[in-house]
Amino acid sequence: MVSCIVIGAGPGGIVATKELLEKGFDDVLCLEQSNGLGGVFASGYDNLLLTSSVTFSMFSDFWVGEGKNHHFWTKDEAVGYWSDYANHFNVTDQSWRAI
Ligand SMILES: Cc1cc2nc3c(=O)[nH]c(=O)nc-3n(C[C@H](O)[C@H](O)[C@H](O)COP(=O)(O)OP(=O)(O)OC[C@H]3O[C@@H](n4cnc5c(N)ncnc54)[C@H](O)[C@@H]3O)c2cc1C
Repeated sequence: MVSCIVIGAGPGGIVATKELLEKGFDDVLCLEQSNGLGGVFASGYDNLLLTSSVTFSMFSDFWVGEGKNHHFWTKDEAVGYWSDYANHFNVTDQSWRAI
């Protein structure tokens, strides 16, 4: 029985799922219409470069490491970060599904 459903596994959906899991909901389901995490960035053009720096793009609870924050992520780096974030907080293992 699923008690919470999050629609979309973009950055917002990944964080919403992680927060629900942390609040004690262990039956959260995040549904994504595409094949992967990352939202708009995952489906963006190949040479997409974020205009916000890593300092403003990363999440406060998942630090990228000293010296790596004064940088502008490529599409792959951004999607890689959000995938790592999801894995770190067990979002992928427990609750994420492509539909
Ligand atoms: C070219 C470009 C450059 C950008 N650069 C920046 C930047 O530098 N910095 C910045 O902060 N922001 C930037 N943005 C904005 C960026 O898109 C948002 O910050 C971010 O993607 C918002 O995340 P989100 O999870 O809310 O939404 P999205 O990334 O839009 O994710 C929504 C997800 O929901 C899924 N979905 C939608 N409907 C359904 C459904 N019915 N069923 C299942 N799944 C569904 C979609 O497939 C998608 O994966 C940029 C956007 C674009 C287009």
